[in-house]
Amino acid sequence: MMNIAMPVLPYAVNALEPVISEQTINFHYGKHLQNYVNTLASLVKDTELADKSVEEIVAVAPEGPIFNNAGQVLNHALYFLQFKSPVKDNVPSGRLSEAINEAFGSFEDFKQQFAQASTTLFGSGWAWLSQDADGKLVITKEGNGSNPVRHGLNPLFGLDVWEHAYYLDFQNRRADHIAAAWDIVDWDVVASRLK
Ligand code: MN
Repeated sequence: MMNIAMPVLPYAVNALEPVISEQTINFHYGKHLQNYVNTLASLVKDTELADKSVEEIVAVAPEGPIFNNAGQVLNHALYFLQFKSPVKDNVPSGRLSEAINEAFGSFEDFKQQFAQASTTLFGSGWAWLSQDADGKLVITKEGNGSNPVRHGLNPLFGLDVWEHAYYLDFQNRRADHIAAAWDIVDWDVVASRLK
């Protein structure tokens, strides 16, 4: 369960290059996420939500600024903590690999279905790999700042397809950004989120 705070990056700001540049990290983590954290902290101050976890706020807040900013704090914490320096032929292993194969057929089929969800999401939002109440893996899309916990799912891996996530590095080429992102996923971190 997460407090309203900046996640500490487990890598250097240039570690994800060339997939995600230092400049993008400086804006996306340093400016966008900092702003969501600051805004959420000020919105819940002196309310009954002040001592709730970010996950609880996302699950229960009515549509509006608190929900939007809490969703983005949760989304970006999961996002920035799930990456590592680029690795070729970067694949999951163990229980996560088995669950992906069971749900989607193969890792290649999963990547194709996830990329399809990410590229067809209209406007700003996120694509997610989550675990449902039965433990099965599912791919879902969330508009704007929502998160799978809103629907009772356990989010494992999310890709930000707001333009601020990739425009400095890939401009309008969202599909190319998604294809490149597979090299930087820390599948051990993703697997650690399985329940
Ligand atoms: Mn973002």
